[in-house]
Amino acid sequence: MAINGTEYISTRGNADVLDFAGVTLTGLASDGGLYVPRHWPQFSTDEIAAMRGLSYVDLAARIMAPFTVGVLDEAELRSLCATAYGSFAHTAVTPLVQLDGQHWLLELFHGPTLAFKDVALQLLGQFFERFLSGTDTKLTIVGATSGDTGSAAIDAVAGRAQIEIFMLHPHNRVSDVQRRQMTTILAPNVHNIAIGGSFDDAQAMVKRMFNDKDVNGPLTLSAVNSINWARLMAQVVYYFYAALRLGGPERKVAFSVPTGNFGDVFAGYVAAQMGLPIERLIVATNINDILHRALSKGDYSVLSVTPTASPSMDIQVSSNFERLLFDLEGRVGATTGARMKWFEQMGKMVLSPEMRKNASLLTSARTDADQMSAAMRWAYGATDQIIDPHTAIALHAARNAGIRPDVPVVTLATAHPAKFPDAVENATGIRPALPARVAQLFDREERFDVLPGAYDAVRDYVLARATR
Ligand SMILES: *Cc1c(COP(=O)(O)O)cnc(C)c1O
Repeated sequence: MAINGTEYISTRGNADVLDFAGVTLTGLASDGGLYVPRHWPQFSTDEIAAMRGLSYVDLAARIMAPFTVGVLDEAELRSLCATAYGSFAHTAVTPLVQLDGQHWLLELFHGPTLAFKDVALQLLGQFFERFLSGTDTKLTIVGATSGDTGSAAIDAVAGRAQIEIFMLHPHNRVSDVQRRQMTTILAPNVHNIAIGGSFDDAQAMVKRMFNDKDVNGPLTLSAVNSINWARLMAQVVYYFYAALRLGGPERKVAFSVPTGNFGDVFAGYVAAQMGLPIERLIVATNINDILHRALSKGDYSVLSVTPTASPSMDIQVSSNFERLLFDLEGRVGATTGARMKWFEQMGKMVLSPEMRKNASLLTSARTDADQMSAAMRWAYGATDQIIDPHTAIALHAARNAGIRPDVPVVTLATAHPAKFPDAVENATGIRPALPARVAQLFDREERFDVLPGAYDAVRDYVLARATR
């Protein structure tokens, strides 16, 4: 099929080329790869400078327009963004907070479910509605969540007529707030499943469903995990937003990103490919440090997952890393496809010195529990900010990255501290309160089913409940 507009290709080179609407509704490519634009759109320094002072919504439409050519123009994007970001509790959408002379927080948690995932998923909900209306397609969303994706996705699609959502979370491994934000949404199109095992087990099952012709065929499956390109696209915007407010594009800015599935930090990489001057992207991990080992030593080998106080980063296999690998080896689908096949069999791969050189914009750091708590205490004691455990991991990395003092360093604050009250209280002695808009969470009825960590059980559950 010829595409009249922005083309999307699979990282494994062997799937249909799609337009923006196609990639938004599809999720994983049929060859097991992930969709990326055929070319990175470019903005000149003058074009970026001209974006200074745009509101978040206007900036979002400007940045995303090159990705949606032939499907949505800038005015249509603007209107979808206005609706999506109208649900945020801060008029700046993603406000910056200054910590000291060099360090800033970019608060990404002012959306309805208190984590940065809302920034992308509120917009994705609008895209789904827009692309399904006027068709008789019924979309079945299956996703795995380490906590925050699930609530943000469910909030974005609850009650929508042409969508059924099945969300898997690892049983007893998400926080009470995270679980309740999913399980207290009682809309009939919402199905919460607690499964035995880790997040990686759940994610592997979701991937398998996409490749299972008995499921993906009878049902039109779609993804809300960050394998969905539209999510990453929406996250590119706030890198521009922050940099423009801190002297960009004339002045370079560094970012420190608490990383799990490698979606958020990959969006920063995309911003750099589009022309935004970025000094450095710090990939901050907790003790589940596969990405740190990969970027610092070239060793991308899977170990078992250790549960931590930053559960949204308790991941070993980071799906979006494949998108970076594709770029690092010259964007050749056959090469990335062969590499990923090998990795899927062996559970490990090595990044060559050449690939690591191509990734030099990215550095990495591993933060343990004590360092995380110390960062929370520093933020509270020295700057009066109460921060969540994920943010603390990135802040520790930011303050120890050795970045020149004249370069502003922005730590992405990915969750509201009240989502993780125990860890915050342990570190600071302060128990953060839920914001008023979600305060009744603990009074609401919950609904979810517990299933064993077995693929067949989950597949049958979905097939029995999805509408076609
Ligand atoms: C999802 C999440 C992360 C990790 O983001 P990725 O895009 O998966 O790397 C970090 N912090 C919080 C609070 C999250 O919800």
